[in-house]
Amino acid sequence: MCRCGRWRALALGLLLVVCSQKTSQGVSFQAERELGSKFALAARLQLPLVDDAELVGYVEQIGRSIVRQLDDSFFDYRFFVVKEPSLNAFAVPGGYIYVHTGLITRAANDDEIAGVLGHEIAHIHAHHLARQQEATQLMNYATLLGVLLSAVHPAIGSFATAANAAAQLRYRREFEQEADYLGVRYMQAAGYDPHGMLDFFKKIGDEQRLSTTEVPPYLLSHPLTDERLNNLEAVLRTQQWAATARRPASLALRRLQVVARARTEAPGDVVAAYRQALEAQPHDPMARYLLGVACFETGQLETAQQLLEAARDQGITSAERELGRIALRLRQPERAKILLSRVLGREPQDPEALAELARAYEALGEPEAATSAYRRALALAPNMQAAHHGLALLLGRAGNEAEGFYHLATSLYLGGSYERALSQYARAAELLPPGDMRLASVRERIEELSGFLRVAGPPTPGGRRVPTPRRGRG
Ligand code: ZN
Repeated sequence: MCRCGRWRALALGLLLVVCSQKTSQGVSFQAERELGSKFALAARLQLPLVDDAELVGYVEQIGRSIVRQLDDSFFDYRFFVVKEPSLNAFAVPGGYIYVHTGLITRAANDDEIAGVLGHEIAHIHAHHLARQQEATQLMNYATLLGVLLSAVHPAIGSFATAANAAAQLRYRREFEQEADYLGVRYMQAAGYDPHGMLDFFKKIGDEQRLSTTEVPPYLLSHPLTDERLNNLEAVLRTQQWAATARRPASLALRRLQVVARARTEAPGDVVAAYRQALEAQPHDPMARYLLGVACFETGQLETAQQLLEAARDQGITSAERELGRIALRLRQPERAKILLSRVLGREPQDPEALAELARAYEALGEPEAATSAYRRALALAPNMQAAHHGLALLLGRAGNEAEGFYHLATSLYLGGSYERALSQYARAAELLPPGDMRLASVRERIEELSGFLRVAGPPTPGGRRVPTPRRGRG
């Protein structure tokens, strides 16, 4: 079935599922949660999501710090990054937030990202989309799902379709103002400079004025008016949030902007941009470091190594992280182990470095140390698909089938291979001992996937395929 046909079938089925849960007051929180969870499953099949623990973790960390400021949270918030250079962020009812890489690359500092996330979290927390749809009866919830998906990722439809979809999701004026007002409060309580929100919205407005082509998708659903900007300025004044000097971009943001660009732009352009920056400031170790990261991310390992070693010698110790990863790719696992262990000595909560360390241990023939490093990585970043896969293979080889199937299933689930994930979760459910902490989540996934597949029919090809773990040798 083509994507559209498949989507229509899915939407029709969901209409039955979601409508049956309407309360007399409108749509229940449970229905919003269900809408979000169904959207997330469909999104994983159809959107180019970033599987980079550091990039997603960065957005998640800011998002979670804002969610902690909510008086009471109805939802379990989840954050995703879409590989898409356009400027967009999107909130789906039930706590699901999607941010395009294009938004990350344009932010001047963490406060601006926090501003966008604060605004989106406020929309979800105040049930804006649900209330709006309920009041206007413009769309049923099944249609809303389809419209949300086209709006988030234009490639699913034509640009006109996407623009039309986003326009159908245009938040009402008073909801936009409420999201600004609440978002500013939450982000400030979380320790971010609330001017970040205003700065970023002004930047989007400028981009729209300068653009001769298309309107940034963000503006179609979140219309930006002078009135809104004035109100936001007034709120910042009345709350006596004096304008202070803006914070510079954090090292994490600057590095992740390189990573985000390398995932979406032509490699030559990305390297050229950072080379130009270094030529403008030839003695700046940070510029050298960022060019090194650009070369690493675009596969120029030797050049990257030279630049990063020089940057490290000039005091950018973080460069050892990329140097460790380069050593691994150049088949120098011992050197990779030393470098990554040093990085983790300074920053023990780095899941990507832990997963890379696990790979170094694997290459060195130390499966137990590798298993332990993967487990630590997943405790910090439970959605690292590659780490689940690596761990599944190790556990399978060690004869631990129950856990092996569990991690294989999770890796398939995260890669969008839902039918195979379902059968592996079923095997894990049979093998995991009663009382195992994972059983509850395994059963939840089985229920979630069975429901989704019943409605959606056979999965589209395109979910990344992951090989089955080898069972115990012999
Ligand atoms: Zn908005």
